[in-house]
Parts: sequence; structure tokens; C-alpha cells
Amino acid sequence: MSILIKNVQLNQHPVDIFIDGSCIARIGEGLSEKAGTVIDGNGKAVVPGFVNGHIHAAMTLFRGFGDDLPLEKWLNEKIWPYEKHLSEEDVYWGTKLACVEMIKTGTTCFNDMYMHYPPVLRAVEEMGLRATLGSTVFDFFDDDFAEKARQQIEKDSILPHDGRISFSLAPHAIYTVSGATLQWANDLAKANGWLVHLHLAETQTEYNNSVKNFGLSPVRYLHRLKLLSPRLILAHCLYADEEEIGMLADNGVRVVHNPNSNLKLGSGYAFRYEEMKAAGVMVGIGTDGAATSNSLNMIEAAKIAALLQKGWRNDPTVVPAEEALRCITENGAAILNINAGKIEAGYLADLCLIDLRSSAFAPGFNFVSNLIYATCGDCVDTVICDGKLLMENRCLKGEREIVEQASKAANRLMTNHG
Ligand SMILES: [Zn+2]
Repeated sequence: MSILIKNVQLNQHPVDIFIDGSCIARIGEGLSEKAGTVIDGNGKAVVPGFVNGHIHAAMTLFRGFGDDLPLEKWLNEKIWPYEKHLSEEDVYWGTKLACVEMIKTGTTCFNDMYMHYPPVLRAVEEMGLRATLGSTVFDFFDDDFAEKARQQIEKDSILPHDGRISFSLAPHAIYTVSGATLQWANDLAKANGWLVHLHLAETQTEYNNSVKNFGLSPVRYLHRLKLLSPRLILAHCLYADEEEIGMLADNGVRVVHNPNSNLKLGSGYAFRYEEMKAAGVMVGIGTDGAATSNSLNMIEAAKIAALLQKGWRNDPTVVPAEEALRCITENGAAILNINAGKIEAGYLADLCLIDLRSSAFAPGFNFVSNLIYATCGDCVDTVICDGKLLMENRCLKGEREIVEQASKAANRLMTNHG
């Protein structure tokens, strides 16, 4: 399969882009390669597809259900009592709904953490996105739960995965997973070349309990367990001091900032982006699940991340638009070890065409500024992932059925178990 995009704007210059198989093969002017599909890029700009560094895709089913509550109350009263009744079918439709929203807002790759792995895998395979799918581990400090989690991981990990989708281990958090199970997950991931995806240092309560229960702050606790490594992706890390940031950098740990979710749950806003960048920690951005951040739009997440840093630091020069865009493209791809995030020959053909005719791009003084600060996701016109066309002219096949089926599944769950 091959695609030729004609006359599209790349860094303010018109170029042609030839995609052969899953990769960008050539970029230049007046390319004459024969392609199965030719796309007119006039009036459009090309950007790398966005990478959502932390999400629970199927939680679209809980969107708008239990807003405006603190994390612990929200989990205990609005999420966990219903989540335990989720069927595989529910998770399948919830994941498909998330994929619809991600494609429509330009995301081509995401790092997921959720339960019921097989329907998540099936939904993502069908939707054509690239993903690292985490099989969630909970043990609640109970040996029977730990044993069940190990059996479930064994089953999930042997399912066939195509090249677009990777398996990972996703222990939920240090307050739901024992140190022994965290170490088991880390050893297994190391032996198999998998990533480990963990929530850490998300709230002051988590921090205080870590000090109380383990005698150490969250990052230091992981350091003592010998879990800090380049295979570890930490979501949040709002509560990390200078020395802890040094530990993360020294061990190549990757961090995903989730500003929308942190702000909405009132978890905190002092994400030490500048210190992490200076120390050499790779930082990406995520939306977290739609139950907390409500939207899976990465342009919005990038904008809020930039504004939050400027406001908190009292400094408009921190996280300029280009850097915010880099966080949701290059950095996201680097965190997940994929060769994407740039529009260059040899990179994976994961990209979006942005409609420059929308009012947010007028006047066109600065494309990246307009993209991050002025648009929302509806400027995304066309999405290509792994060299395949997922959306053209904002038309996404099957969208209406997915929206209907996911809404039905969510209503059934809340009605039957409320
Ligand atoms: Zn999360």
C-alpha cells in the first residue's frame, strides 16, 4: 500500500510526501512516484500524529459520571463499584469510542492502562491506531489477588499482537500493588522487553501515605525496590523533589504529565517540568482517562500544560508552543520506543493533515502557535497511521455506530448496577 500527499505545507513550505508501506519513503517537490492513493494537500499542513502518553481508553464509558470529586472519593464511590461489573463487550465499545475521539483530534498512538485486555486489543486492532497496551495489575496487598494477576498477565501476554501494538505491564499504583508484585512485574518486563506503566506521586495523600507506610516518598520507595529503569513510564510525578528528579534522570525513567486530569481532580499543578528537562528526564503529555480529564484531545492537553507552567512559574517564556508540540510528538514517541514523531524519510508514517482554512489559522503568522494556542481538535482533517488512511476529510468509518453502542453500554452499566 502506498500514499502520495501532494502540495502539503511542511514547516511553511509546500512538499510532496510519499508513503510506502508503513513508513515515510520520500519527501520533496514534484514527486512522481506511483501511489495507490493520492491526497491533495492544498490548504493543509502536515504534522506528526500526536502521542497520548497516559490514558485509560475504555474509561470513555465513565465520561461525565462523577465529576468534581477528589481522586480517592472518585475511585471508591464512582469508579471501582461500577468497573467491577464491566463486561468484555463494554470495554470493547468504550475503547472504540476513545479511538474515535483520538483519531478525530489527531492522535495516532497511545499508552493505555486498563483491565480486560483482550477486548482492548481487538478494538485497537480494528481501529488502526498504534498503541502500547498495558495489562493492569492490582493485588491490594493480598496474595490471592497477586496470584490471579499473575495468571491474567500470562494469558494476556501470549495473545497475538501485530507490529503496531505492543504489550506492557501496568501495575496500577503503589497504594494498590505491593512491593513484591511491583518487583515481579519489573523482572518479567525486563525478561520480555516490555515497558512498565505506573501511576506515581499523583496526590499529596499518596505521598503522605507512602511516607507513613513505607518510610519513604514515592520515588525513593521505587528506588529502594530497584524499579527505576528506562523501561519504567511514570504517569503524574507531581510530588518529586530535586533529588528524586535526579534519581529519575540517572535511571532513564520516563514521565508523563497529565495537566487536565491533575487540575480537574485538584491533585496539584506544580509539575516540575523545567527541572525534569534540565536533569534530562524525557517528559511526554497524556490526557489520562476521559472519566477524569473528560476529553482525549492532545492539542488541548498540550495547551493546558504550557499555560499551567507559564502561570505557575510567572514566566511566559517557559514551554513555548514548539516545545509543547514536541512533547506530544517526538517525546511521546521516544517514551514508547517507537520511530515516529517526526515528518522525515525513514520514520513511521503516523501523521495528520491540518486544515489551514479554519478561522483559527488566520492570519497565518505562526502555524505552531495557531495549532497549540488557537485551535481545538477539529482542525484535524486527515489521519494516517502505519501508512494507512484512518480518516479523510474528517470522515471516520463506523463512527456513528461506535458512539451509539458505547453510550448504550455505559447506560446499561450504570442502570443495572446503580
Ligand atoms: Zn491514570
